[in-house]
Amino acid sequence: MSDKKKKRGTEDLPLLQKIVALCKRRGFVFPSSEIYGGLRSAYDYGPLGVELKRNVMAEWWRSTVHEREDVVGIDASIIMSPRVWEASGHVGGFSDPLVDCKTCKARFRADKAPAVAPGTEVTYRSQGKTIKGIATRGYVCPECGSIDLSEERAFNLMFKTHYGPIESDDAIVYLRPETAQAMFVNFLNVQQTYRLRLPFGIAQQGKSFRNEITVEHFIFRSCEFEQMEMEFFCEPETSDTWLEYWRTERLNWYINLGCREENLRTRPHEKDELAHYSKACYDIEYRYPWGWDELEGVANRTDYDLGRHQAASGKKLAYFDPQKINPETGKPGLRFLPHVIEPAAGATRAVLMFLLDAYDEEPPSEGRKDGRVVLRLDPRLAPIKVAVLPLVKKDTELTGKARDIVKTFWSSSINAFYDEKDAIGRRYARQDEAGTPFCLTVDGQTKTDDTVTIRYRDDMRQERIKVAEAVEIVKEKVTASRRS
Ligand code: ATP
Repeated sequence: MSDKKKKRGTEDLPLLQKIVALCKRRGFVFPSSEIYGGLRSAYDYGPLGVELKRNVMAEWWRSTVHEREDVVGIDASIIMSPRVWEASGHVGGFSDPLVDCKTCKARFRADKAPAVAPGTEVTYRSQGKTIKGIATRGYVCPECGSIDLSEERAFNLMFKTHYGPIESDDAIVYLRPETAQAMFVNFLNVQQTYRLRLPFGIAQQGKSFRNEITVEHFIFRSCEFEQMEMEFFCEPETSDTWLEYWRTERLNWYINLGCREENLRTRPHEKDELAHYSKACYDIEYRYPWGWDELEGVANRTDYDLGRHQAASGKKLAYFDPQKINPETGKPGLRFLPHVIEPAAGATRAVLMFLLDAYDEEPPSEGRKDGRVVLRLDPRLAPIKVAVLPLVKKDTELTGKARDIVKTFWSSSINAFYDEKDAIGRRYARQDEAGTPFCLTVDGQTKTDDTVTIRYRDDMRQERIKVAEAVEIVKEKVTASRRS
């Protein structure tokens, strides 16, 4: 099995199963429509999951749009003119090679099936018999290993529906399979209204839909998912430099948000892997429990998309540079199509990655008879930043003080959570599993000197701090960047 193209089997994935169980138990992610038996690969984000996803997306927006002079955002329609998808090549070419296994009836993607060199002898079981045969295709069935397979059929990944009341062919529209195309078709709208000069980027976040054949690994691949994409328009001769720049920026973004460096890598696409419109591409990959796999793509899309939309719409999409010398006239003023570098990340895939990377189990130790599960999420991503816990539920003076403290956090836009249920140890354990970086315990001493105990999630250290300073202390720790 080559390391380059990851092939997936049905191996035991204990860490992933633990994450799925934790997500359900604590309210990060639930199977969608569960009371009706669920819908394959559809998921709902619960109270903690929605916060984590929003935090991931907010961090991306902050670093990509707010904290840069050269990138602006848009929020476009999910349903666009079908002509967009004809021009982009999605109607004709956005398809996966689909194969049926004649032995076990599994349906799978040829490009994701376990690789086997043609000519290799393989053994599999069919109707209780062991069969030997020679592989001819370069892959076998991922479920049963059979080589008795159907031809590959191209299966278009776009979800189709009808616009308006009549279900005729000319009313067909698509749910967008990527957010990127809206940036191309709005290129001049944004550039002119915002008077932007090259190089500049247009960013968008939101839902995308792909009728994926192989849905796998929990929220890693689902039919409805969220993306965070940016199209960075630049002069053609600078595109190689910008590709390297964005690859580094994007890799560092994950590291800066606490992802362990040794679990990340960038992998250049081989020539035969490149999309036809792409000059060069890197995958930012994460070491998932099933091996290295894609987290984000950073691609040089050249002027392919602008060129296609210009040709299909008949509208000029060229950028005008008043300073550049036109080689034909020898005078300043040149119109040309910019080239595009695209960092395209999956928000929901990033949520899974941050959960996997943050998950930790501590065995029982001296002074702690129970082990614990802890999500070591960066405080900026943590769904709840601080839990405020009155030691004794029946003491209304304590609960009143605790509720007042919670309100001071809320008025500083810090997501604080009040919890008075169960023994304090169990409350800490719940917050550890939720990834809450700080717990404040309000106890008898609080009544006399207005101090509380702050407990740190990662090392369980406890300190006494003044109530009046709690908001500043937590705020400072939540916003402190890891980048030195
Ligand atoms: P893959 O090879 O995994 O199918 P891709 O190369 O088709 O992904 P892109 O079209 O480059 O993916 O999309 C950009 C990003 O969007 C991906 O890196 C991934 O994070 C995310 N993404 C794509 N498809 C899905 C999906 N079905 N579910 C969740 N996230 C997805």
